[in-house]
Amino acid sequence: MTSLQQLAEASVRNAESSPIESTYLAKTTRSASLHAKAVEYQPSGVSRLVGYWEPYPLTFARGEGCYVFDVDGNRYTDMLCNYTSLVHGLTYPPIQEAIERSIGNGTAWCGNNVAQYALAEQLVNRIASVDQVRFTNSGTEAGNLALLIARAVTGRYKVLMARHGYHGSLLEFASGSMDQPGPATLLARYGDADSFKAVLEEHGQDIAAVFVEGVMGAGGMQQAPAEFFIELKQAASKAGALLVIDEVITFRLGLGGQQGNLGVTADLTMLGKLIGGGFAVGAVGASRELMSVMDSRSLKIMHSGTFNANPMTMTAGDVSVRELTQVRIDTMSEQGLRVAAGLKTSAEKLGLPLTINQCGSLLNLFFSDDAQDNMFSRTDNEAVTLFHLACFNRGVSLAARGMIVLSTVMTSEVIDDAVSRMAAAMEDVAAEI
Ligand code: PLP
Repeated sequence: MTSLQQLAEASVRNAESSPIESTYLAKTTRSASLHAKAVEYQPSGVSRLVGYWEPYPLTFARGEGCYVFDVDGNRYTDMLCNYTSLVHGLTYPPIQEAIERSIGNGTAWCGNNVAQYALAEQLVNRIASVDQVRFTNSGTEAGNLALLIARAVTGRYKVLMARHGYHGSLLEFASGSMDQPGPATLLARYGDADSFKAVLEEHGQDIAAVFVEGVMGAGGMQQAPAEFFIELKQAASKAGALLVIDEVITFRLGLGGQQGNLGVTADLTMLGKLIGGGFAVGAVGASRELMSVMDSRSLKIMHSGTFNANPMTMTAGDVSVRELTQVRIDTMSEQGLRVAAGLKTSAEKLGLPLTINQCGSLLNLFFSDDAQDNMFSRTDNEAVTLFHLACFNRGVSLAARGMIVLSTVMTSEVIDDAVSRMAAAMEDVAAEI
């Protein structure tokens, strides 16, 4: 059977079983047929895990400000911001203008560029634990580099990370994300310093680094207090392991990232997303001493990359970071509170259980009385899956797992409009489950 036939049959089944799905199918026919063709050439028709959802993912044509438009012409308020990277929306004029100037000079060369110096200086000035940075092309590569540094410095191999944590799709971290400890990966419970200490006491002599997110994003925006990080740092140091704080998504929460907000100090910091201003990026920062393993004159680890610190990314990233001011961070945090409060009021009216983890401009909702800490076997799977589609039907794009991300270009009107659209989507869900 061809995928087009399968799709047609699935459409009929879905239309019969779910009004939300049938509305989605009716509004997005061009996305449906493009995806039916895409599955011939790419697994599931996509190139990233979270880019796929049932019954098929949308194909977007363009973005503008805080809106994205699909190939059927539907407009969505972008409450996902490419999983946090678009902190100033999709077409922020200062970034667009800088990029237009830069692209006329060529896209990449082997050798430095001025924007790279400016961005590095900004990051060093903002993050207290960072004296120097090295750029990569993704957060995943930043994780790889942090691991290389930790292994070189400690002479050890294993990593300890939070169960269901996320540090990119490197083998070591992917196994932890899936809650599958592997030969190089040990797991403990996020936010529970004793759980990490127990593993460090038993296996400390083999552990090169403890990786931990500032806020556990893919794990549902779970937050841990400063004490957790402080105890972790002490326990890691005692065991001779390095503490890596992954700020790939949390750098947007404070001028010095979540470390700065909590007053904690990482040995190594992973960065990504917004520091590329919408382009592919990653970075690792640390003390001068730790970063010296990459000193080109006394090479202890091998780190290179054709597109590392390319002028396009650095130009966009430099503007993106500079324009992320404390005032804007505070405004987004207030808007985050407003989104959470608005959604809670709507859920109460509908009699739907709703819990929201909110940390500044990052939120994750759960249609249950508690936040779930295993995103792979949530008890509210049916509701959150339907809500995701219902939000598209109502003109809002968010993550399938209920993650909501704000950007600096969202006005109060945009926020209020998005909340009322999401409230309408909740009503659709309540009518169906
Ligand atoms: N670390 C965290 C906390 C992330 O959320 C992500 C991506 O979502 C990564 C690392 C990997 O970054 P990238 O997708 O750029 O490889």
